[in-house]
Amino acid sequence: MKNVDFIIVGQGIAGSMIAWFLKQHRQSFIVIDKQRTPTASTIAAGVINPVTGRKMVKTWKIDDVLPFAKQTYREMESELGVRFFYEQEIYKIFTSTEDIGIWNHRKDDVAYTNYIGDIVTLDESGVEAPFGAGIIKNACWLDMPIFTQSIRNYLLENGCLIDEEVNYDALKIGEQITYQNWEAQHIIFCEGFRANSNPFFPNLPFTFAKGEQLLIRSTALNTNKILNRNIFVIPKGNHTYQVGATYVWNDMTEQITNEGRLELTEKLEKLMSCSYDILEEKAAIRPTTKDRRPFVDQHPIHKNLYIFNGMGTKGISLSPFFANHFIDCILKDKPIMQEILLNRFLV
Ligand SMILES: Cc1cc2nc3c(=O)[nH]c(=O)nc-3n(C[C@H](O)[C@H](O)[C@H](O)COP(=O)(O)OP(=O)(O)OC[C@H]3O[C@@H](n4cnc5c(N)ncnc54)[C@H](O)[C@@H]3O)c2cc1C
Repeated sequence: MKNVDFIIVGQGIAGSMIAWFLKQHRQSFIVIDKQRTPTASTIAAGVINPVTGRKMVKTWKIDDVLPFAKQTYREMESELGVRFFYEQEIYKIFTSTEDIGIWNHRKDDVAYTNYIGDIVTLDESGVEAPFGAGIIKNACWLDMPIFTQSIRNYLLENGCLIDEEVNYDALKIGEQITYQNWEAQHIIFCEGFRANSNPFFPNLPFTFAKGEQLLIRSTALNTNKILNRNIFVIPKGNHTYQVGATYVWNDMTEQITNEGRLELTEKLEKLMSCSYDILEEKAAIRPTTKDRRPFVDQHPIHKNLYIFNGMGTKGISLSPFFANHFIDCILKDKPIMQEILLNRFLV
């Protein structure tokens, strides 16, 4: 038997962050992840957008999670020696004078000083923005394919990753957790939407959201800015742009669809006025929850089983902060924030 402190199931952004903070605390672990493409973490646009919606409202806990995410991704880049994190403003394209009014209202609010910037004219070739755009400050994006693969390589190099599907029936739960020839004190499940097959945490109020996105190429569109008007357009170099995403609730198929492509191209054509080719289409399922808050908790009976999931549409900003909080709580026997516990649905 090989002994470790923790077994982690899943190496999307959730499992990757758990592994990172366990390593910071000098805990031993093994990650078991069946590598698949696509997954939410390998295809996500990777954007952290601090203010969302037509009313430009701050996203949940952004003042806490954003500085922590920035610091964590920078530290990871420096330790892994790979670049995947970029601080880049978002240009929110206005569609009416009413949008400009909402923007100016937010700009006067001190709680929004870090996020709401100036209004500018966008004269990028190929971009449709007759009402101009507002600059969302302190936005960032994580290059998800590079991030997930870099963490995977790091874990493989250190002998901490097994590429296979976990067979839940083969897990023996007692004082210790036994799986194949591994024995661990704890196990943390981070399976994304596949948590719906996990027999230890059944019937959780997930409301999975399928997302589709495109990679396009346009030589006529000429911008190095992240553009947002219902969808995001993210420059990826060599005249290519990532375009996304759709939200379809409770569709558990991971296939691309004509409807998804049509929705994205219709939105894209309102944002840009030039021709493009679609190079790639992808779909994956977000582990979204009923109240849009993560599921971070201990099993009610088996105290050495845990879940870290439900990052939903905001895995890139939420995962670092909550993984750190969770590991701190487990190792120091501290209470987990009430807002992310499973029993909040019983109240
Ligand atoms: C199109 C799209 C765009 C998005 N854009 C953004 C964005 O711009 N910003 C943002 O913050 N979020 C975005 N998201 C959401 C974000 O991707 C998710 O919040 C996040 O990736 C969820 O990560 P996860 O690790 O929980 O799950 P996943 O990424 O699904 O990872 C789970 C991993 O566990 C493995 N696994 C599952 N079960 C088992 C098992 N039994 N045995 C072994 N391995 C197992 C899977 O193979 C997978 O590798 C987007 C999502 C989509 C689909």
